[in-house]
Amino acid sequence: MSRIKNIRAREDGGAGLARIESRVRGILSDLGEDPRREGLRATPHRVAKSLRDLTSGYGVDVDVMINNALFTESYDEMVIVRDIAFYSLCEHHMLPFFGRAHVAYLPNKRIIGLSKIPKLVEIFSRRLQVQERLTLQIASTLMDKLKPRGVGVILEARHLCMEMRGAESQHSPTTTSCMLGVFQKDSRTRKEFLELVKTRPI
Ligand code: ZN
Repeated sequence: MSRIKNIRAREDGGAGLARIESRVRGILSDLGEDPRREGLRATPHRVAKSLRDLTSGYGVDVDVMINNALFTESYDEMVIVRDIAFYSLCEHHMLPFFGRAHVAYLPNKRIIGLSKIPKLVEIFSRRLQVQERLTLQIASTLMDKLKPRGVGVILEARHLCMEMRGAESQHSPTTTSCMLGVFQKDSRTRKEFLELVKTRPI
């Protein structure tokens, strides 16, 4: 679905939600359930609302969020925000994958408001995703908007589509990383980042 179509689907608010609801009701019937029974009566409404919520990142303008939080500073040491909890939906099964993100950058006369980094992770998480693209989007957006000397992003996540469906051994988290600028070119910078985020089990 194109981006424009997506935004339009969201703008019609209540009507869009009602359409999702009726489709969920259809899915329940197709699964052999009775959508009219007491326990399921409000389920289509709840599912529609939670799907909207879990994909709310489509409606957020990253530029607007970031542009008023950039500040000129001479600080030039590594900035790291670790252990950012994130929850996303895999685009192949629409099942959750979730874990922690570690994000670092080396400033180049500009810093970003610290609370914006978890916010950025959240915006991109709340879309249908694959972990690899999520990692890249976080890193390349920071690189693009902040123009730092480099960016490093590591994501560790558990994928319920693998764990619940038994396709992979249980509880084996997937790690992805994206190193840009000096994080890619300079092994000491990369090492410093990896040492500082040394990870524990999710
Ligand atoms: Zn999946």
